[in-house]
Amino acid sequence: MTPVAYERAGDVQAALAALSAADDGARCIAGGTNLIDLMKENIARPERLVDINGLPFDRIETTEDGGLRLGALARNADTAYHPLVREHCPLLGAAILAGASPQIRNMASNGGNLLQRTRCHYFYDVGVPCNKREPGSGCPAIGGLTRQHAILGASDHCIATHPSDMCVALAALDATVQVRSQRGERSIAFADFHRLPGDRPSQDTTLAPDELITHIVVPPAAAFRAHSAYLKLRDRASYAFALVSVAAALDLSEDGTVRAVRVALGGVAHKPWRLPEAESLLVGARPTAEHFALVADALLRSAQGQGDNDFKIPLARRAIVRALETAAAGTVDNQGRVPEGALQ
Ligand SMILES: Cc1cc2nc3c(=O)[nH]c(=O)nc-3n(C[C@H](O)[C@H](O)[C@H](O)COP(=O)(O)OP(=O)(O)OC[C@H]3O[C@@H](n4cnc5c(N)ncnc54)[C@H](O)[C@@H]3O)c2cc1C
Ligand code: SF4
Repeated sequence: MTPVAYERAGDVQAALAALSAADDGARCIAGGTNLIDLMKENIARPERLVDINGLPFDRIETTEDGGLRLGALARNADTAYHPLVREHCPLLGAAILAGASPQIRNMASNGGNLLQRTRCHYFYDVGVPCNKREPGSGCPAIGGLTRQHAILGASDHCIATHPSDMCVALAALDATVQVRSQRGERSIAFADFHRLPGDRPSQDTTLAPDELITHIVVPPAAAFRAHSAYLKLRDRASYAFALVSVAAALDLSEDGTVRAVRVALGGVAHKPWRLPEAESLLVGARPTAEHFALVADALLRSAQGQGDNDFKIPLARRAIVRALETAAAGTVDNQGRVPEGALQ
């Protein structure tokens, strides 16, 4: 048995001090739905757990410019069902509710969701090597069982995918992650928060070990409110991670053409996958299946299967088209269809 010290941070300064004192051995814990599993499997071995649940980061508020500020400690369920989330970005609520189970969403925090680790089965099996778990040990997934693995942005060192649904919507919505350490505060653009594996797959994100996520900021998204969709394709209808998921949002002008579009993919790469140049192909065009297919082709141009997961390339292509068609027809959130203009 590995002994673990536990402390409950009474305030933000105490939490930051505990994390920065870290000899690499302290980790903060929020809902515990991922970290405790990793500890039970002997994959995470923190010497000290800093419980941050008493910190004042559990609110969901609007920002001055009409965006949203999501506390890192707000629970995924509270976030998904919050009236402000429904009003400002139903896409986010839909993505969260596509993930995990009601019980897990009740515990899981927003900050923890961003930092959940890959579900690569080799990563979870301490009996085999894994570059993400033990840098330099090798990657048995390459040439192994790859049904869940990446088709985009992989490297010779790791082909794992990021498992979050919430993060796919946050990537589409151009969110930023607000973090704090004893050195001060900084804001990380969502596109820069998660990393591609490169030759350092052990590092999932650009967050430093002594940094605490305090909030996630979603910029004003009213333009996409009436036309968004989250489509998740998986092996079971619920309680399963995405093989492919798509967060799609359209801003349609009065003449019916596309003013702006966002498409982010989940289940296909080490981070939520976006390609603004692919999105720009749709600007000024009519929202038709033919035009959506052009975006899909551009998004998947560099896709490469690993064998078992070759099916993901045509699956992703069809999913992108379907998600955009669904978005064009009008947002359906957890309360039903959102009529155009109804929430303005
Ligand atoms: C069976 C199962 C099925 C699941 N299915 C899905 C799914 O389909 N889709 C999906 O998206 N997710 C799924 N999840 C994952 C779930 O959403 C995550 O486990 C959860 O969001 C993690 O949040 P947490 O608060 O419990 O994090 P914790 O387990 O407490 O922490 C996770 C990591 O984040 C760090 N951390 C937490 N908060 C902060 C902070 N504020 N600042 C800095 N570091 C922090 C911790 O140190 C730790 O490293 C599933 C989980 C389980 C167990
Ligand atoms: S894909 Fe990544 S996480 Fe999976 S075994 Fe290879 S190095 Fe480890």
